[in-house]
Amino acid sequence: MQPVPITGIRSTVTRPLQAFTKDGGALFVEREEWTCFAYAPKPTSRIDKADVVFVGYGITAPDQRWDDFKDVDVRGKVVLIMNDDPSSDPALFAGKTRLYYGRWTYKYEEARRRGAVGAIIIHTTPSAAYPFQVVQSNHGQERCWLPFVDEQPLELAMWMTEEASRKLAALGGRDLDVLRKAAESRDFRPVSLDVQLSVATSNVVRALQSANVVGVMKGHDPLLRDEAVVVTAHFDHLGIGTPKNGDSIYNGALDNASGCAGFLALARALKDSKPRRSILFLSVTAEEQGLLGSEWYARHPTWERRNIVANFNFDGMNIWGRTRDLRLVGYGRSTLTEDVLAEASTRGRKVLPDANPETGMFYRSDHFNFARIGVPSVYPGSGSDFLEDGDTRRSVQRSYTALHYHQPSDEIDARWRLDGAVDDLRLWLAVLSRVADADRRPKWTKGDEFEKER
Ligand SMILES: [Zn+2]
Repeated sequence: MQPVPITGIRSTVTRPLQAFTKDGGALFVEREEWTCFAYAPKPTSRIDKADVVFVGYGITAPDQRWDDFKDVDVRGKVVLIMNDDPSSDPALFAGKTRLYYGRWTYKYEEARRRGAVGAIIIHTTPSAAYPFQVVQSNHGQERCWLPFVDEQPLELAMWMTEEASRKLAALGGRDLDVLRKAAESRDFRPVSLDVQLSVATSNVVRALQSANVVGVMKGHDPLLRDEAVVVTAHFDHLGIGTPKNGDSIYNGALDNASGCAGFLALARALKDSKPRRSILFLSVTAEEQGLLGSEWYARHPTWERRNIVANFNFDGMNIWGRTRDLRLVGYGRSTLTEDVLAEASTRGRKVLPDANPETGMFYRSDHFNFARIGVPSVYPGSGSDFLEDGDTRRSVQRSYTALHYHQPSDEIDARWRLDGAVDDLRLWLAVLSRVADADRRPKWTKGDEFEKER
């Protein structure tokens, strides 16, 4: 057991968000126009007549020769930021694919590194990949964090609707569309709006204790056994929550009891094998709270970090039935892709890349924290080219996201077909053994954003 300390913070707005200009100002309606959460474990968070600066995408990316901040000092200010990453030039930021620079979590992290006191992300449905209601439903809820190591005080992290952002820009004498257009260029410089903001919250902070569970299977090759392949699956889900149709138990049968079952089946199947490298079975906590268990492990690995050679992350198995294809999130990013392709082709199966790279799936489960510390990682996904009853099964599969994802109804039902999971796991077992036994350790594809640790 690896203890994981967690800090819970729940914020209540005590002073509404108010804008001040030379000749007036405006109030912004909480929840309707904006939401917030405290970004530091303090009893109160406050922003007092801080200047607002539009910083475009808010990205500092030396590898793309891109710096939205230039030499502008935003310490003590509120930054207004666009979500996503620039897409005007396909040669930049991997074109349509969302890089980590495009994730909202990055925006707040960078604002904090820059010493901003507040950060507002402009919500648009295309750039977030979900409607404003999703952001609204988190407003006022407890958020969980790993203990804060960074003392930089970003007081409040906020989201604002596009319409309210337009209003804010107009109060500052600017047109939001003009600002956003300018931000598509490498020459963009931050724009100070002629407006100040005030807002405050009171925060309930509590300390929680959870744990990761780690199992080690020692490698058999004296030259390679110090290296480890890590298999992960998160064991948490959402617990007890808002009742839906009279049910308040969020079971998480697919997300991620199925992944945990697959993880245990792999461990059992490998029990009598003699892999050359060691294999670490890491069952992580608090994925649903922001990948916290895996982040803690990445910060405090129980295995020497430079000797962790790969990560396979199981978050949801194929419970729909046997398929000819399968998805690989992380496709093309490392030599692990070649290992998967080799084993898949001997089984006559086709490997497809992430279906929606623009939604940033690569950053949304635990393998991301291994990628961040430089470990080549993949996240297996389910195929949809079914051997039998294709249309029916595809429609059941599609309805999952709309109806059951993160709902009490994520339960086992009569439509589950575990033969698909068995098929997939046989393949993953072969891939895992192949990577654990290979002479060479996996490598990132040249130029991948995680080739350097970040
Ligand atoms: Zn999950």
